[in-house]
Amino acid sequence: MSLMRLDKAASLSILGATGSIGQSTLAIVREVENLSVFALSANTNVQALLAQCLEFKPRYAVICDRGFGPELSAALAEQGSATEVLVGEEGLAEIASAPGVDIVMAAIVGAAGLDSTLAAAGAGKKLLLANKEALVMTGELLLTAARESGATLLPVDSEHNAIFQCLPTVSAGISDEQFRHVDKLVLTASGGPFLRTPLGEFSEITPAEACAHPVWSMGSKISVDSATMMNKGLEYIEACQLFGLPPEQLEVIIHPQSIVHSFVHYNDGSVLAQMASPDMRVPIAHCLAWPQRIQTQAPRLNLQSQPALEFLAPDLERFPCLSLGIEAAKAGGTAPALLNAANEEAVAAFLDERLDYLGIAEINAEVMAQIPCEPASSLAIIRDADAQARKLANLLISNRII
Ligand code: NAD
Ligand code: MG
Repeated sequence: MSLMRLDKAASLSILGATGSIGQSTLAIVREVENLSVFALSANTNVQALLAQCLEFKPRYAVICDRGFGPELSAALAEQGSATEVLVGEEGLAEIASAPGVDIVMAAIVGAAGLDSTLAAAGAGKKLLLANKEALVMTGELLLTAARESGATLLPVDSEHNAIFQCLPTVSAGISDEQFRHVDKLVLTASGGPFLRTPLGEFSEITPAEACAHPVWSMGSKISVDSATMMNKGLEYIEACQLFGLPPEQLEVIIHPQSIVHSFVHYNDGSVLAQMASPDMRVPIAHCLAWPQRIQTQAPRLNLQSQPALEFLAPDLERFPCLSLGIEAAKAGGTAPALLNAANEEAVAAFLDERLDYLGIAEINAEVMAQIPCEPASSLAIIRDADAQARKLANLLISNRII
């Protein structure tokens, strides 16, 4: 197969290159002739980052946990690699904002990706946003930074990418006359592994069961978020922020087959949807090439052999985290940051077997109930809310009897 070409050659930094989104991004890079890799980052996985560096020959490799810096440098030198090693948060900020980089894929999971995502937004890059937690936490601050620097913010999350494809061609975060004709956005959700599990069995759910997503193969944190539907709650907030619509104009619908990735309802009665097989290479390629398109190896949809598409209303008793996300979107201010931080701590504790499955929603709800939300008028206020929520979540987790 001949390689694809972008209309304009570009260089790419991937924040979180060793993760699920990072690897899917590199699968596309492999097939594009004039897309070079400027930098790759990982948290601790030296071997995976080393292998990627030897294949893609980036100028920089960032290992965030600085203790692993010497090991990565020695391994690269031994292989005769010219890739230079940077470490820590300052290394991430450098590869997100350096003049030599055109496109930044923000694919670190959680608040750990916030500073580097903000650095890319502030440096006017073409910013491919997978790290939804960064936007959920900072909302308008991130959008303003992107707008002021002339950055182009493109949504990688499949639902938001679908909506983006169904809207007039403006970059996300920039409102347009046509938005006035949007009645509502409908986010689809697979319902995850526990869509039909009897509620009485929820207390016994293990991390392995929660991570076994029926459709998507993803990192462990977003897999648990998909099981609880906190992921859809975060995406609800993400959609309000990206597209500038009030929460009342958003809906969630369960669609177990994950073929329709979201809908845009217009006020003339038209409903536009984007469909594709559930494969993140589709939205990633869309963002990488935008406004162009490039071919991918994603499986093609065959609607004749596809099982029937179902659409169901979400059961909020089964998925209380979805309600929390909608409430946080409506409350605004620091509420999304509080919820996100509580959830990151609760999911980490669940994965570590320090918290039961039902505890995730209960910790999240308790943190939201106990910490008042304030206007999110500065990064310092948001960071403070994040720290308070983590502290309280951990206290509640350690006091909970499981
Ligand atoms: P993952 O766990 O597979 O990968 C996370 C990446 O972030 C890894 O490269 C890891 O080294 C790095 N990382 C983790 N903790 C870090 C830290 N403290 N400091 C620096 N780097 C750190 O996660 P993923 O599934 O690829 O998801 C990444 C982001 O994309 C998440 O925000 C997720 O919500 C979003 N997303 C993922 C998918 C998907 O299909 N996987 C779909 C939509 C959105
Ligand atoms: Mg999604």
